[in-house]
Order: sequence, then structure tokens, then C-alpha cells
Amino acid sequence: MRVLVQKYGGTSVANLECMNKVREKVLISLDKGYKVIVVLSAMSGETNRLIDLARQWSHRPDPCEMDVLLATGEQTSVSLFAMLLKDCGVKARSLLGFQVPIQTDKSFGKARILDIDNERIEEILEKYDVLVVAGFQGCDCSQRITTLGRGGSDTSAVALAAAINAETCEIYTDVDGVYTTDPNICPQARKIKKIAYDEMLEMASMGAKVLQIRSVEFAKKYNVPIHVRSTFSDGPGTLVVQEDKSMEAAMVSGVAYDKDQARITLVGVYDEPGVAAKIFEPISRANIVVDMIVQNPSREGKTDMTFTVPKGNVEDTLNILKKAQADIGAQAILHDVDVAKVTVIGVGMRNHSGVAAIAFSALKNENINIMIISTSEIKISCLIEEKYTELAIRTLHEAFGLDQEAPRKEC
Ligand code: ASP
Ligand code: MG
Repeated sequence: MRVLVQKYGGTSVANLECMNKVREKVLISLDKGYKVIVVLSAMSGETNRLIDLARQWSHRPDPCEMDVLLATGEQTSVSLFAMLLKDCGVKARSLLGFQVPIQTDKSFGKARILDIDNERIEEILEKYDVLVVAGFQGCDCSQRITTLGRGGSDTSAVALAAAINAETCEIYTDVDGVYTTDPNICPQARKIKKIAYDEMLEMASMGAKVLQIRSVEFAKKYNVPIHVRSTFSDGPGTLVVQEDKSMEAAMVSGVAYDKDQARITLVGVYDEPGVAAKIFEPISRANIVVDMIVQNPSREGKTDMTFTVPKGNVEDTLNILKKAQADIGAQAILHDVDVAKVTVIGVGMRNHSGVAAIAFSALKNENINIMIISTSEIKISCLIEEKYTELAIRTLHEAFGLDQEAPRKEC
């Protein structure tokens, strides 16, 4: 039995016209001899509408009931789509998360998938040609409904593909693939044909919203090839797959950015064991995600510590730091919310030298000051003034020749 998993996002199931397009895609795959597991999101805007509704009812909506509510979005789309398929004679049925079952932990609102009963799916697939599965939802060990976090249908699809060993997990959306950078900012942005899981993780964590980060982690762990493509056109999209030699030819594969960053500097903290822990432990206990961290060399037993947090967490972080201020000896606590992070990403960095120099001189040519630099094996991030974000993206995109198909420099 050849099985394909196809996930369609909210804009692909927004109304009857869109759902008819989705049906065409599914029928084509059936014609090719596949059985199809279709994973659907809620119709676009529906999850937001439900969240607003809950907020009108309750100041602090109960997390368990919130998941019961949010899961109705996907329940609506799978039932409607299964009707459409049946109307044209397809053997199809809908399945909610708990019916599969997609077993998750108990973290309501951001549950993690623990197990999917593949034998049961295979059994149901004997009787049906298409299973229309509600994305974004599962159930915990006490049969309570859980949801997987915003964008979670991607993860449902990849997890199902992993469970039944599907050939590919196709993610259909309203864009035709993953681009070298945001095409709204840089018109020269190009669709990437093939990208490595690690590169995609960096792009996704930097706000390229095409795939939920967790779905890419899942795909990497179980080696599920993802094909991101458009519901509204037929061309090939972007393959998200295991790294291979061909990917190393390009120095850089993409430029990402994150405007949701704020910079915090602790001036003159003691330079002695335990100070960093005193700073970051309470921040992490408050579930605040710290990103870039820089500590300056010490002068007379004192040092400056600079780091970034999401803009929405600045107030909380400052309050935490004020409590620790005397203990860590900070002379002042400074912050700046008008900052953004631009990042160049590419597995090719591992075997090309000079990538950082190209990035820095490109920014210099536009007179953009770099406040913090952080690197990993496959990325270089620079924190800059927020107002230069677009300019920095365009200049980096050009400096690495990302508008051209062929890699600029061979290894
Ligand atoms: N409906 C959910 C959301 O809007 C899940 C998804 O679409 O992937 O986040
Ligand atoms: Mg999505």
C-alpha cells in the first residue's frame, strides 16, 4: 500500500472554493495509486476567533477546556471535507485526534505527541482510500483532548507520516515553498529547491512561518522528507530533507530575521563564579527564552553582560533583574527594544571560510552598526537597530548571491 500524507493549512480550507481545489489535489493522488491521509487545519481565522471567544467568556480560560474549544476548528474542516470527498464517490472518513488515537502528554495548549497507533491506521486504511485527520489535536492518557500549539497541524502531519512510514509528507499552503528570505522585503528572494532540516529549523525559529518548528524537529528525528508546496498552483515546492553534499556548495542558503528581540545590558556585574547562573536561572524559571548572550572581558573584577529576550518579556525580565541587582553587583540595568536580529544560514558555512567577513562588510557598506554577534556552525546572527532590518536583509541577500540559482562559490 503506497500512502501519502498531505496537510492543508487554514487558507487552503478557508471556504468551499478552496476545499474544491484541495479535493482536486487529493483525487490526482488517488489516480496515481496512492491512499491518502489528509491532515487539515481549521479554516483560516477560526482558531483566532475561538481564542477571542474564550477570552470574552473568561479572564483566564481553563487550559483543558480551551483545548476542547480549539479542537472544534479542525473538527469542522475535516467533517466538511470528508463530505466533499464522499459526494464524488471516494471512500473517505474523518478522524479526530482521539479516534486515531494521537497520544500526547498533558501539556494543554502545547502538547507533545508521544505515540500514534500505526496498526490501527493501517487497519482503517484497508477499508478507506482517504482518511481526513484533524490536525493540531490529540488526547492524553486520560482521554482528555489536547492541542499541539499554534501551527501544530504541521506536526500532526509529520508525525502521522513517520508512524506509517509514508513516502513523503506534503505540506500544502498559500505560498509555493520556502524562500531565501522574505519576498515581501526582498523581491529578489528565490524559492529554495532543497533545504536541510537544520537550515529549516534556523529559518523557522527566525520567523519563517511556513512550518511549525516542532514539525521540522520531528521530521529530522524520523527522517521524514517534507515537501512544502502550494495548494493554488502545481509547480514543485521546497523539499526539506536530510543534509547532503550538494547543499554544501552554497555558502549561505537563506537570510532570516527576527524583530521580536529586545536587548538588556547589565553594567558592571561581579566577574566571579555563579553570577551568570544568578542572572539566568530566575529568568528561565519564568519561562522567558533568552537568545543571544555576550559577556565582556572583565575589568577589575567587574564585567558587562548583554543578552536578548522577546520584546513582550522585557518588563518581567527587568523586574527579575532588579531583585537580583544587589546580589550580582550590577551598577545599572539598561534595555533597548528597538533592535532586530538578522541571520545568515547555511550548512555550507561548515566548509567555507570568510562567511562572517562577507556578512560584516556588507553591513558596513550600508553603515549598519552591529551590536551583538552570535554564531553556530551553520549561522551568523547580528543584532542591529530595528529600523535597518529590511536594508540589512537586502544587502546580505545580495552579498551572498542568493538571487542566483547557482552557488556563488564552489568548495
Ligand atoms: N489551527 C491551528 C492554528 O491556527 C493549527 C494549525 O493551523 O496548524 O494554529
Ligand atoms: Mg501553518
